Amino acid sequence: MSQAELTAHDRILADRARYVSAGVSTPRLVVAAAEGARVVDVDGRAFVDFAGGIGCQNTGHRFAPVVDAIHEQADRYLHQCFMVGVYEPYVAVCRRLAELSPCAGAEQKSVLVNSGAEAVENAVKIARAATGRPAVVVFDNAFHGRTLLTMTMTSKVKPYKAGFGPFAPEVYRAPAPYPYRGISSADAIAGLERLLTSDVDPATVACAVLEPVQGEGGFVPMPPDFPARLRELCDRHGILWVDDEVQSGVGRTGRVWAVEHYDGAVPDLLVSGKSLGGGLPLAAVTGRAELLDAVPTGGLGGTFGGNPLSCAAAAAVLDAVADEGFLAGARRLGETMRARLDALAGRYAWIGEVRGLGPMLALELEEQRPERAQAVVSAAFDRGLLLLACGLYGNAIRLLAPLTIAEDELDEGLGLLEEALAAAD
Ligand code: PLP
Repeated sequence: MSQAELTAHDRILADRARYVSAGVSTPRLVVAAAEGARVVDVDGRAFVDFAGGIGCQNTGHRFAPVVDAIHEQADRYLHQCFMVGVYEPYVAVCRRLAELSPCAGAEQKSVLVNSGAEAVENAVKIARAATGRPAVVVFDNAFHGRTLLTMTMTSKVKPYKAGFGPFAPEVYRAPAPYPYRGISSADAIAGLERLLTSDVDPATVACAVLEPVQGEGGFVPMPPDFPARLRELCDRHGILWVDDEVQSGVGRTGRVWAVEHYDGAVPDLLVSGKSLGGGLPLAAVTGRAELLDAVPTGGLGGTFGGNPLSCAAAAAVLDAVADEGFLAGARRLGETMRARLDALAGRYAWIGEVRGLGPMLALELEEQRPERAQAVVSAAFDRGLLLLACGLYGNAIRLLAPLTIAEDELDEGLGLLEEALAAAD
């Protein structure tokens, strides 16, 4: 077949195979356009989007205030580098993050970077500088990124770690609560106490990093008492608690930050990213001024961190998700979705659990193998629904619908999910 006879879809995928590293995993979808909860491919096929570019579209594709803010900013200036020329959009995002921060301390500051992994790395740098201690505690089923340190902190060998060692030193892993698989808060705290007795001196631990709802690990929300118990343990040993909300934050759970669902859970540092930039790359570390200022001047930064376009977009996103009406809508969305998922789960013995927090929801399949979840994702794609699997064993199906999704689109997407589950039965 000549180049001209190939569809745009096939031509782009052929070029992708020829020119792009096989190390990046890609789906069958080739995107031409996206708006709200819809993605349209290059052959004109429309999909309902429950993937959101992996949780980056809490306000939906091309959210109008974000697009307007980007246009306005593009007409003024693009890159400056905050270390070369101070610009207001960067400061404006840090001010909003300070106002919305769930962290301890009246005065909050932030640093802006490009990706979630970079933000987690910076949170560890800040914690090390502030405490003078080297070690980092992480948890089972964690995902914190793909850079050397964050890959080390991540808890899944294939595809994230296999062949990429040696890993960063001074990273210690504790059990995480996982009630569906029989691990309670008490088990996890006991495991952490044991780790601090058997493997690492708590006096050398700078921080413990926890996702309040584990994302890539399977949308596992921490049980109600766990964050406060972790807080108490950290306080006892002078360890800082880093709250990784790259996936669970920015309204995803029906609160601005997932940790706000938990009583007595006040982190020292917050890591945000993904939906923060409304579709542009932006991530942040936020916390009390004394921690953010513990790093000597020049110790934090980067060429593109907090670039003006991303900051303009993020200010619009934060204004939207901080609105109580927006959050109430997100919580209603979560209730509707959960009711539908519970009903669906009742039909199939192989669906083990419906779980999540607010509209951050997933179905975990009972068998710890990826095949059936992949079959559901594939059957959904064939019917016009974008879905993602997750979990240590790839056996959870997560739903990351935009929080702005219209009722009829949600209904359509859940109907397609219903068909996909039936097809995989
Ligand atoms: N932390 C969490 C909780 C995440 O879910 C992710 C990405 O999925 C990251 C960190 C890394 O973010 P990024 O892919 O932007 O580096």
